[in-house]
Parts: sequence; C-alpha cells; structure tokens
Amino acid sequence: MDLVITGGTVVTMDPERRILEPGVVAIEGQRIAAVGPAPLASPPRPAPRTIDATGKLVLPGLINTHTHLFQTLLKGPADDRRLEDWFRQVVGPAACALTEEDCYRAAVVGCLEAIRSGTTTVKDFMYTHPRPGLSDAVIRGMLETGVRGVFVRGYIDDGVDHGVPPALVEPLDGILADCERVAKSYHGAADGRIAVRFGPCMIWTCTREGLVATQRLAADLAVGLTMHVAETPFSVQNALDRFGVGDLALLERIGFLDTPTLAVHCVHLTDRDLRILKARGTAVSHNPTSNMYLAAGVAPIPRMLLAGIPVGLATDGPASNNNQNMIHVLKFAALLHKVHTQDPTAITAEQALEMATIGAARALGLEGEVGSLEVGKKADVIIADLRNVHAAPLHHPVSSLVYAAVGAEVETVIIDGRPVMEAGRVLTVDEAKSLAEAQRAATALLARARIPSPRKRAWRPLAF
Ligand SMILES: [Zn+2]
Repeated sequence: MDLVITGGTVVTMDPERRILEPGVVAIEGQRIAAVGPAPLASPPRPAPRTIDATGKLVLPGLINTHTHLFQTLLKGPADDRRLEDWFRQVVGPAACALTEEDCYRAAVVGCLEAIRSGTTTVKDFMYTHPRPGLSDAVIRGMLETGVRGVFVRGYIDDGVDHGVPPALVEPLDGILADCERVAKSYHGAADGRIAVRFGPCMIWTCTREGLVATQRLAADLAVGLTMHVAETPFSVQNALDRFGVGDLALLERIGFLDTPTLAVHCVHLTDRDLRILKARGTAVSHNPTSNMYLAAGVAPIPRMLLAGIPVGLATDGPASNNNQNMIHVLKFAALLHKVHTQDPTAITAEQALEMATIGAARALGLEGEVGSLEVGKKADVIIADLRNVHAAPLHHPVSSLVYAAVGAEVETVIIDGRPVMEAGRVLTVDEAKSLAEAQRAATALLARARIPSPRKRAWRPLAF
C-alpha cells in the first residue's frame, strides 16, 4: 500500500452511490486497493503514507469530455459574437498563426486549470494543424502536467466556402498519415495515461470521403472517434443540403458510428436522431456553458438520460466558455435544463455529478478504469475542502459541490496514484512560470494573427 486517504467524506460514485462519512481510500501503485467506511476492517501493512482528509470531501476526479486546449490563449477576444464571426474573426485567424510553442504553453496552463478545479481526465479535440508538430506539443503539455489525457487528432478537410481559412484545410492523405503516426506514437503512452482518438471537426468542414476513410483507419487501429454534431442549425442544414439527411443520420448511414463515437453537442436533434444514438450506443458530450455562450441552443439532455444514452459533461474550448472549470459546468448543466424545461427537477445535483464522473467515463468508454472510487480502478482522486464562505455551512456534500462551490476548493489531486497537486501546491510543473509564458504567448499570438486587442473593443453601454 502506498497512500491512504483517511477521515474525509468519500463520495464514491460506485454502483450503490455510497457516501462514506468518514471513509478511507487506499492506493497501491496506480490503482485503488481499498475503499470503505473508516476504519478499514484490515488496515494496510506496512503503514503507508497517509493524507488526513478530516472535514473534507474525497471524490473521483472529474472528467472533461471535450475541450480545445489551444484556445487557452483565447479567453476573451471572441466574446459576444455570432458563431460565424467568432470563428472567422478570431478563432480561425488565431488558429492559422498557432506555433508548437503556443500549443504547448496553452496545454500546460489549460491542464493546470483542470487540475486546480478537480479534473483528472481531459479530452482535447485538436482540429487545427496549420503546421506540423501541434499535436505533439499539446500531448507534451498533458504528459508534463500529469493529467490523464484523451487526445483527439482532429482535422478540417473542407469548408473554405463557409469561411474556413485555407491554411487550416489539410489534404486527406496527410491527415490519415498523421492520425496513424499520432496513434502509433501516443496511444497508451505514459503507462496508459494517454489515449488517442480521431476527430473530423464538423460536417461543414469535412468531406464525406474523409469521414469514411477516418472511420476505416480508426477501426483498423482500434481507436475511437469524436466529432462536433448538430451544434447549430447551420450544421444540420449543411448536411441536409449536401446529403439529404442531418449530420448524425449521415454518420449512421456511412458506417461512421460502427466505431465507438463521442458526438459533441447534439443540440439540434430530431426524434430519429435520438433513436440513432440509443440504437448505436453513441455517446454525447454536453457543453452547457459553451452552448449558452454561443447561443447554440439547448441539447435535449433529460430525454437522452431517460433513454439511457451515455452523456458526459464538458467545458468546450476556453474561447467559448471562457475557462476549464468543471465545477462551474456542474451548476450550469443543472440550471440550463431547469430553466429550459421550466422544471426544477429536470437535472438534479446528483445527475450533474454523475455526468462529470461515472457518466463521463462511460461516454469515453473508460468506465472500467476511472469515474468512481472502486477497488481495481485507476487512482484518480480529488480532495476538496468546502469549508469556505462560498460553500459552507454544509448540509449535503453533492449539493454544496454542484450549486455552491466555485472550484478553488480542490486542494489535492491524485492521478494514476500519483499526487500532482497537494495542499494547493502543483507538484508537476512551475505554475507561476507557466502562467507568465502563456500570457506572453497569448499576447504575441493576437498580434501575429492581427486580431484587434479586446482592450480596444467598443463599450456597448446600457441605454440610459
Ligand atoms: Zn468544441
């Protein structure tokens, strides 16, 4: 036994959803060796290192099923715009100017933010490759910070007619070759802490030929797929115009969904689309903050949950959020569906937490490894102290975490059995230096991409 966490309130997220007050979590190597009410019936020998979590919450690490880490450098410049302007005026030009250094700095700070707010698994969808090496730079940031990373080698192979900068359109043969290279180089790296998936960006930036070829390669290499699906009415209409069916129905028709797929957003779905998700076991990544920020619409999440469709929560990229704080997402997810359905029971605090832990693990096909505190699973554990003015006084740990906490309550984060943050101090990288370097990279990126500084934007005043 290497590490024992004692004294805390353990929210296990196991099949019985046990909350142990107090409980014990024992870790050996990368995995959880024991979980139970304190004291354990057979205490570990020899006496291991102990973390006293008395008065604190102990939880499985949160799982962010969708982000774009490079956008860590773009928190703010694209605020308050329509999606087309958001992409054409800011995110597209910035993406064209991205360097390896930018992607690495962004990934480090994005992963640090994840760790600080209790996220242990980050799924990054890297869809812009104006030059080689950007995937490797993002993965390097994941490796160094210590997060569990699911890296999606995304791509764009079409869409110039819709405002995609030509520099972001890759030739299909180059895409497939690099997907294979990234999968062979990194899938299962760092003792299984890094996984690789493939990701056509979205229907209006992709060719049908590319979708078919990507699915075939994913099947050959036994890696999963992900794609933005039905995010906006424009996406659905684009598929209808080109193929006569919506984007999800097209994926079903061409066999894309034969490979395990995480469909991101799924806002504008028909009843038939919901039946496709259920029948094919296709999982959904729900990004409530981003959907509100870009006014994309409201995904029918309560209906998906009723149908048993796997749903995981996510932040989306920091250019449409503008942070990576999954504790905020818990609250947004619950509130969005309450107001949309005018039913305060639509999504409960417990359901929100499920969608960020065991539900997210299921959506990623990782429920055998992470998402709950159970013997044999990877030891991805967080400790949060909710005794602050935001969350206290406490009555129920899940209520306080979802509706009252702000994210800064997380003080210790263990990933793969290894502490990456302890008592509020990050142990893997130099946080202050990383922040300073990311700030420099962000300022230089806007200048290089000729994006006007947000500080110069016109103040849109109240009319009084
Ligand atoms: Zn996205």
